[in-house]
Amino acid sequence: MSSISGKTTLDWGAFAAELAPVALISEPVLVKKRSRDFFWYSPILNQKLRKCFGDLVAQPKTPEELRHVLATSYRHDAPITLRGGGTGNYGQSVPMDGGLIIETTGMNRILEIGHGFVRAEAGALMADINAALKETGQELAMFPSTQDIATIGGFVAGGSAGIGSVANGALRDPGNLISLTAMSVEEAPVERQFDGPDALHVHHAWGLNGVITDVTIRTVPTRNWHGCMATFDSYKGAYAAGCALAVAEDIACKLVSTVDARITAYFPRLSGHIRPDHHLLVSLVPAEDVPAFFALVEGMGGHVDLAMDDARRQELNLPHVFDFSYNHTTLQVLKADRSATYQQVGCPIPPDPEKVDALRPLLGDDVWMHHEFARLGGEVVTFDLPIIWFSTPERLAEINAIYETNGFPVYDAHTWRVEGGGLKNADYIHLAWKKRMDPKGLLNSPKSAAWDTVKHLSPEDIEARAKT
Ligand SMILES: Cc1cc2nc3c(=O)[nH]c(=O)nc-3n(C[C@H](O)[C@H](O)[C@H](O)COP(=O)(O)OP(=O)(O)OC[C@H]3O[C@@H](n4cnc5c(N)ncnc54)[C@H](O)[C@@H]3O)c2cc1C
Repeated sequence: MSSISGKTTLDWGAFAAELAPVALISEPVLVKKRSRDFFWYSPILNQKLRKCFGDLVAQPKTPEELRHVLATSYRHDAPITLRGGGTGNYGQSVPMDGGLIIETTGMNRILEIGHGFVRAEAGALMADINAALKETGQELAMFPSTQDIATIGGFVAGGSAGIGSVANGALRDPGNLISLTAMSVEEAPVERQFDGPDALHVHHAWGLNGVITDVTIRTVPTRNWHGCMATFDSYKGAYAAGCALAVAEDIACKLVSTVDARITAYFPRLSGHIRPDHHLLVSLVPAEDVPAFFALVEGMGGHVDLAMDDARRQELNLPHVFDFSYNHTTLQVLKADRSATYQQVGCPIPPDPEKVDALRPLLGDDVWMHHEFARLGGEVVTFDLPIIWFSTPERLAEINAIYETNGFPVYDAHTWRVEGGGLKNADYIHLAWKKRMDPKGLLNSPKSAAWDTVKHLSPEDIEARAKT
């Protein structure tokens, strides 16, 4: 078997034989499919990554099989890319050097459910975990809107926040990510446990510094959630209601999103259910707090269009309300028109409807706002995931500059390097752990711009750079 990627000289047929009895995929079409994620949201990333492919896919079902795969890869210097559900947005699970893709979805056991926590293997789907938790009266403290295909390992390695974050904070907030275990890529791979704050050494490192085998994560009591949608005459009105909702003491919501009226025109499933040409507020509210939700929305000049429990939602044949939040909002538009893209933008803290309103005319008609509300370190924050009608890279840079000069930091969604987006700078703690857990740098190293500058150093010397 020759190299599909054209980037390695390994004899992939012989390598595959050595991996037995681990399940493998070598059919080029299927390997290419598993070399992609949702990077096509970005025309810039699409250009850069669409021709990056792996050579072979391994699907270990147990930590022992994973250990065998990693030891074999180490022996042959095979580049490795880790993949859960492949729902990342920046080509996080795209093999930059070709090589082996390890798909974790076979390692999917839920290992333990206790009061306030669940421990699951890295490949467990988040929706399956939530379903198991529901039996115990609990749910994940937060989950991404991709929960049906996203894995818990992929969320911890590549995600940051989600539905639940407006109540419970981001993944990195203390108490949310309780513990994780990761395996090294060495001659004899070892498993290390990272507890409490130490779990951040591996969190959001994009699978570059160890292979997560299991995760222990916070759970909260589940509620009878009502999917609520309200409409407003102005975007400022919807955003102001979102701000009030996020801090309302009598409404324990787990989702608050606001969406520009022009974007809602791309939500055909909601046609006839929400007022057209109005700005939208999306929320998940416990049944007992729904009357207070009505009072808040109406008191702020809005109109509640939908407030439905799950049975009613199914009766109406509507998707979950979170299908109109986070990056699903973007997806709804992309389903109709692939010339749309998006950006990730922070907002002044505390959230200020006046500042958001003042920014809108500066951005132009090719930028349509959509905000998510979350808690970060206990404080309510918002971030904008606008729809941008892409024309040229120069115009995108201009839009970024308008945001930044007005005090809205851009966390670029159009970069394929780990340092380019949310992190902004090199994370030398992550890189020190990469040196410990992946001394040969086999785990998709090109994803880190800084790795080449530190790979010759000891873990301690790399870590020292974090202090300078
Ligand atoms: C429509 C849409 C909506 C989204 N909404 C959200 C959201 O609400 N919140 C959010 O945070 N993100 C969101 N995302 C991004 C993404 O869906 C989530 O981060 C998701 O949890 C990733 O899980 P996954 O299993 O698909 O990971 P993958 O995409 O397969 O992998 C993500 C990263 O983790 C690494 N990785 C995977 N498994 C392991 C492992 N076992 N050990 C170490 N590294 C590993 C991969 O190499 C890759 O770098 C969204 C994306 C889309 C397309």
